[in-house]
Amino acid sequence: MCNQCDYVNLIEHSGLGQTPNRLRVLEIIGNSPHPISAQEIIAALNQSRDVNRVTVYRILDLLVGNKLVERISAGDRSFRYGLAPNANHQPHSHFYCVECGEMECLRPEHISLDTEPLERSSFPGLIERVEVRIDGICEDCRRQ
Ligand SMILES: [Zn+2]
Ligand SMILES: [Zn+2]
Ligand SMILES: [Zn+2]
Repeated sequence: MCNQCDYVNLIEHSGLGQTPNRLRVLEIIGNSPHPISAQEIIAALNQSRDVNRVTVYRILDLLVGNKLVERISAGDRSFRYGLAPNANHQPHSHFYCVECGEMECLRPEHISLDTEPLERSSFPGLIERVEVRIDGICEDCRRQ
Protein backbone atom coordinates (compact mmCIF):
# COMPACT_ATOMS: atom_id res chain seq x y z
CA MET A 1 0.00 0.00 0.00
CA CYS A 2 1.39 3.36 -0.93
CA ASN A 3 0.24 6.93 -0.66
CA GLN A 4 3.50 8.45 -1.84
CA CYS A 5 3.34 7.43 -5.48
CA ASP A 6 1.56 9.69 -7.92
CA TYR A 7 0.43 7.17 -10.52
CA VAL A 8 -0.59 9.75 -13.13
CA ASN A 9 2.85 11.27 -12.88
CA LEU A 10 4.58 7.87 -13.03
CA ILE A 11 2.75 6.94 -16.24
CA GLU A 12 3.44 10.31 -17.84
CA HIS A 13 7.14 10.15 -17.01
CA SER A 14 7.47 6.63 -18.38
CA GLY A 15 6.62 7.91 -21.84
CA LEU A 16 3.52 5.75 -21.91
CA GLY A 17 0.30 7.56 -22.82
CA GLN A 18 -2.19 7.70 -19.98
CA THR A 19 -5.55 5.96 -20.37
CA PRO A 20 -8.14 5.30 -17.64
CA ASN A 21 -7.55 1.53 -17.79
CA ARG A 22 -3.75 1.81 -17.58
CA LEU A 23 -4.09 4.12 -14.61
CA ARG A 24 -6.58 1.79 -12.90
CA VAL A 25 -4.33 -1.24 -13.37
CA LEU A 26 -1.31 0.64 -12.00
CA GLU A 27 -3.38 1.86 -9.02
CA ILE A 28 -4.66 -1.63 -8.23
CA ILE A 29 -1.10 -2.99 -8.27
CA GLY A 30 0.28 -0.04 -6.29
CA ASN A 31 -2.48 -0.18 -3.68
CA SER A 32 -2.05 -3.87 -3.02
CA PRO A 33 0.09 -4.66 0.04
CA HIS A 34 1.63 -7.64 -1.80
CA PRO A 35 2.20 -8.66 -5.44
CA ILE A 36 -0.99 -9.87 -7.13
CA SER A 37 -1.86 -12.13 -10.04
CA ALA A 38 -3.43 -11.04 -13.32
CA GLN A 39 -6.64 -12.82 -12.20
CA GLU A 40 -6.78 -10.71 -9.06
CA ILE A 41 -6.18 -7.55 -11.11
CA ILE A 42 -8.97 -8.50 -13.53
CA ALA A 43 -11.34 -9.21 -10.62
CA ALA A 44 -10.56 -5.86 -8.97
CA LEU A 45 -10.93 -4.00 -12.25
CA ASN A 46 -14.26 -5.58 -13.08
CA GLN A 47 -15.80 -4.35 -9.85
CA SER A 48 -15.96 -0.90 -11.40
CA ARG A 49 -15.93 -1.51 -15.14
CA ASP A 50 -15.86 -4.40 -17.55
CA VAL A 51 -12.45 -4.87 -19.14
CA ASN A 52 -11.62 -8.02 -21.05
CA ARG A 53 -8.65 -10.20 -20.11
CA VAL A 54 -6.77 -9.61 -23.36
CA THR A 55 -6.82 -5.86 -22.72
CA VAL A 56 -5.59 -6.36 -19.16
CA TYR A 57 -2.71 -8.62 -20.28
CA ARG A 58 -1.75 -6.08 -22.93
CA ILE A 59 -1.76 -3.27 -20.34
CA LEU A 60 0.37 -5.41 -18.00
CA ASP A 61 2.89 -6.01 -20.80
CA LEU A 62 3.07 -2.27 -21.45
CA LEU A 63 3.47 -1.38 -17.78
CA VAL A 64 6.19 -4.03 -17.37
CA GLY A 65 7.91 -2.96 -20.61
CA ASN A 66 7.97 0.65 -19.43
CA LYS A 67 9.37 -0.40 -16.03
CA LEU A 68 6.40 0.83 -14.00
CA VAL A 69 5.47 -2.66 -12.91
CA GLU A 70 7.58 -5.67 -12.13
CA ARG A 71 6.63 -9.19 -13.21
CA ILE A 72 7.60 -11.53 -10.42
CA SER A 73 7.81 -15.28 -10.90
CA ALA A 74 5.96 -17.34 -8.33
CA GLY A 75 6.49 -20.99 -7.49
CA ASP A 76 3.31 -22.01 -9.28
CA ARG A 77 4.57 -21.07 -12.75
CA SER A 78 2.29 -18.06 -12.91
CA PHE A 79 3.32 -14.48 -12.33
CA ARG A 80 2.53 -11.83 -9.79
CA TYR A 81 2.71 -8.11 -10.41
CA GLY A 82 4.13 -5.47 -8.11
CA LEU A 83 5.30 -1.88 -8.50
CA ALA A 84 8.73 -1.67 -10.09
CA PRO A 85 11.41 0.08 -8.04
CA ASN A 86 11.00 3.87 -8.24
CA ALA A 87 11.91 6.94 -6.18
CA ASN A 88 9.65 5.72 -3.34
CA HIS A 89 10.37 2.02 -3.55
CA GLN A 90 13.70 0.29 -3.29
CA PRO A 91 14.27 -3.01 -5.07
CA HIS A 92 13.40 -5.89 -2.76
CA SER A 93 12.94 -9.63 -2.73
CA HIS A 94 9.77 -11.65 -2.27
CA PHE A 95 8.57 -14.53 -0.17
CA TYR A 96 6.35 -17.12 -1.80
CA CYS A 97 4.13 -19.39 0.29
CA VAL A 98 4.11 -22.90 -1.19
CA GLU A 99 0.85 -23.68 0.65
CA CYS A 100 -1.47 -20.80 -0.25
CA GLY A 101 0.42 -19.20 -3.14
CA GLU A 102 0.47 -15.70 -1.60
CA MET A 103 3.53 -13.56 -2.14
CA GLU A 104 4.89 -11.07 0.35
CA CYS A 105 7.31 -8.19 -0.15
CA LEU A 106 10.42 -8.51 1.98
CA ARG A 107 12.19 -5.51 3.43
CA PRO A 108 15.03 -4.38 1.15
CA GLU A 109 17.53 -4.48 4.02
CA HIS A 110 16.74 -8.08 4.95
CA ILE A 111 17.89 -9.77 1.77
CA SER A 112 20.34 -8.40 -0.69
CA LEU A 113 22.34 -10.05 -3.37
CA ASP A 114 25.75 -8.70 -4.19
CA THR A 115 26.30 -8.84 -7.94
CA GLU A 116 29.62 -7.03 -7.76
CA PRO A 117 31.82 -10.16 -7.73
CA LEU A 118 30.04 -11.29 -10.89
CA GLU A 119 30.43 -7.90 -12.52
CA ARG A 120 34.13 -7.79 -11.60
CA SER A 121 34.65 -11.26 -13.03
CA SER A 122 35.00 -11.90 -16.73
CA PHE A 123 31.24 -12.42 -17.07
CA PRO A 124 30.46 -10.65 -20.34
CA GLY A 125 26.72 -10.06 -19.86
CA LEU A 126 25.01 -6.92 -18.57
CA ILE A 127 22.91 -7.42 -15.46
CA GLU A 128 19.56 -5.65 -15.77
CA ARG A 129 17.57 -7.04 -12.91
CA VAL A 130 18.03 -9.49 -10.07
CA GLU A 131 15.11 -11.52 -8.82
CA VAL A 132 15.40 -13.34 -5.52
CA ARG A 133 12.49 -15.42 -4.31
CA ILE A 134 12.35 -17.15 -0.98
CA ASP A 135 9.93 -20.09 -0.87
CA GLY A 136 8.41 -21.31 2.36
CA ILE A 137 5.27 -21.37 4.46
CA CYS A 138 3.65 -18.09 5.43
CA GLU A 139 2.58 -17.05 8.91
CA ASP A 140 -1.13 -17.82 8.31
CA CYS A 141 -0.45 -21.26 6.90
CA ARG A 142 1.99 -22.12 9.73
CA ARG A 143 -0.69 -21.38 12.31
CA GLN A 144 -3.11 -23.90 10.82
ZN1 LIG B 1 4.55 4.12 -3.86
ZN1 LIG C 1 0.39 -19.33 3.07
ZN1 LIG D 1 7.29 -6.36 -3.53
